[in-house]
Amino acid sequence: MYLEKYRLDGRIAVVTGGASGIGLACSQALLEAGARVVVADASEANLRRARAQIRGGDEGRVEFAPLDVTQAAAVDAFARACRERHGKVDILVNCAGIGRQSSGEETDEDEWRLVLDVNLNGTFWCAKAFGAVMLAQGGGAIVNIGSMSGDIVTRPQKNVHYNVSKAGVHHMTRSLAAEWADRNVRVNAVAPGFVETPMSAYALKTDVETTRTWLSNTPSGRVGQPDEVASIVHFLASDASSLMTGAIVAADGGYTLW
Ligand code: NAP
Repeated sequence: MYLEKYRLDGRIAVVTGGASGIGLACSQALLEAGARVVVADASEANLRRARAQIRGGDEGRVEFAPLDVTQAAAVDAFARACRERHGKVDILVNCAGIGRQSSGEETDEDEWRLVLDVNLNGTFWCAKAFGAVMLAQGGGAIVNIGSMSGDIVTRPQKNVHYNVSKAGVHHMTRSLAAEWADRNVRVNAVAPGFVETPMSAYALKTDVETTRTWLSNTPSGRVGQPDEVASIVHFLASDASSLMTGAIVAADGGYTLW
């Protein structure tokens, strides 16, 4: 009975930012759990690579689609197209995101708007469009990828826009969860710590000092791997977490404990 709750056979899942890093791992995890997965990403190059990397896609349960989450009308049309093609959408993983490093006094208008547009606005456009599909069909599960940076200020990098965008994602998660709980649409988030992906490569691959600071501030003494976030996303997308909504699940090796 308990393991059955983790199965996603027959479910339709959409993963934004699904062609790289954490999103790619989420796409793989949901596919392995039995779902049909739509990998949606703005990067054509990442989509091409993901097509070659995903295992089990030969069963025809995975498809790849270009999607820029900042384009509200396109997101809306994409959600409706997914519902028309598959008859429903059960799971949305909002993983598309970008990082930029600049201090508060250096951050210019374009960079501020870009980070907020992708990380916060894009997450909302997707939650709104796919939430509408889920509310109409009588249920669904949305999992947002926030960050520990939505709760605390990480160091030594400076990125006020990123931190604010993720704080917004966390409170959006709680707000939509409260609105939709009695209509069987659950909204939860994962708040990862430092995870080894292309986004964190600027530090992990070249900046020894930043990496040293990250690790010395993390009780586990290591960075996370994408699959360690994906397994929590899988749990939150499945019936195993049926009582959970509005939760922000930390996956940070203990970083936010200190
Ligand atoms: P990643 O490897 O760069 O993957 C993000 C994917 O989203 C990329 O394919 C990216 O394309 C795509 N994307 C960017 N803008 C988009 C848009 N407007 N519409 C649709 N797709 C877009 O990064 P990641 O580390 O896996 O990050 C995934 C999520 O986890 C993000 O929300 C991030 O903030 C969060 N997170 C990451 C860490 C970490 O340490 N890595 C920690 C906490 C939270 P491009 O490659 O062209 O940008």
